[in-house]
Amino acid sequence: MISVAEAQKIILGEVSVMGEERVLLPEALGRTLCEDILSPLNHPPWDTSAMDGYAVRFADTKTASRDTPIQLKIIEEIPAGTLPQKTVGQGQAAKIMTGAPLPQGADAIVMVEDTEKNGDVTTIFAAPEPGEFIRRKGEGIHEGECILNKDIRLRAPEIALMASVGKAVIPVYQRPTVAILSTGDELADLDEPRGPDKILNSNGYGLAAQVLETGAVPINLGIARDNKDHLMAKMRAGLSADFMLISGGVSMGDYDFVIEVLEALKVTMKFWKVAMKPGQPLAFGIRGAQPIFGLPGNPVSSMVSFEQFVRPALLKASGRTQILRPVITAILEEEFSKQPGRQQFVRAVVSVKDGEYWVRSTGNQGSAILKSLVLANAFMILPPEGDTLKAGEKVAVQLLSEIAEAAG
Ligand code: AMP
Ligand code: MG
Repeated sequence: MISVAEAQKIILGEVSVMGEERVLLPEALGRTLCEDILSPLNHPPWDTSAMDGYAVRFADTKTASRDTPIQLKIIEEIPAGTLPQKTVGQGQAAKIMTGAPLPQGADAIVMVEDTEKNGDVTTIFAAPEPGEFIRRKGEGIHEGECILNKDIRLRAPEIALMASVGKAVIPVYQRPTVAILSTGDELADLDEPRGPDKILNSNGYGLAAQVLETGAVPINLGIARDNKDHLMAKMRAGLSADFMLISGGVSMGDYDFVIEVLEALKVTMKFWKVAMKPGQPLAFGIRGAQPIFGLPGNPVSSMVSFEQFVRPALLKASGRTQILRPVITAILEEEFSKQPGRQQFVRAVVSVKDGEYWVRSTGNQGSAILKSLVLANAFMILPPEGDTLKAGEKVAVQLLSEIAEAAG
């Protein structure tokens, strides 16, 4: 049986990065840039005032103070969004608002709080520094500058930055499509009537949500029954997606036909089992360029396997370079008993106390107990070797959410 690391390596070796497309700026949130972004303009486009106040000549105002105020004639008002019409000459000032262009002749701003207006005369009570409260043309961004590098994930600040230089259409990698098939005679979907012999198909919904969280596009193929013909027909419908996920039917049970049907569909199987807990049955194959995952049916095993194998694959396909969750070291809060054998992913809570990470299990680790996954913000990653771990031991922990959230 191969290890988690070996399985990840095989999978990532088969995944290629998606093609490129152009999307409107508001649609670009969460996408990955596929080209560097150069600014076509300066920001700000002219010298601007950073304050509401008066545009003045430093030479005229350098001796101003409360005791020795200076009076200047107001020659015009420049609200934001208006270009100045006049040049500020000796003994003159222009009233100016934040963000308005600096008029010719002026070389400093005195903020309105240090002035008093009387008709068309302003009294200045404080001397500015030369250039004070002036934002210089191109100070934030200069024309031709690379403002964002390719392969970064676009968050709100990047959207704002691109808007500030007029980028309305953004080059990004395409989002992979992911067909999701749930298998099992015992399953019913939420919108169908169900008899007492059925359980609800939670994997279909959980996996679709996990796919969406990576930025990829889920395609729900519904439920396939545990017979080869129905499985084959349902799987065929997923062959045109970029990826396919099939949950259940990959173990050794009498009705586990997924592997057989994949082989009949000419899928080249790369491996079938991974030495991990939860989630030992995991089949991976390739058909043309399509990676196909046979995920374990147990709800937690399915989601943990997605986390370790499918998520990195989808992020790689989406053009991301940071594809693995961060792993930190934390101190075990209480004893955790385990058996030697397989690498274990323990649903856990990480918190920060006195500047150190602490971690504890979220309780019952049964592979159908979704509640203990809901409570988790991390997985303890425990090696196959060794048994019970004592309180105070250091363990590797994979963070499932941002460190700040995890520490909350
Ligand atoms: P299997 O690998 O098909 O034998 O499934 C293992 C266990 O997971 C069984 O108890 C199934 O009922 C359960 N299971 C399989 N698929 C799903 C699903 N889509 N939603 C919820 N439970 C499932
Ligand atoms: Mg089954």
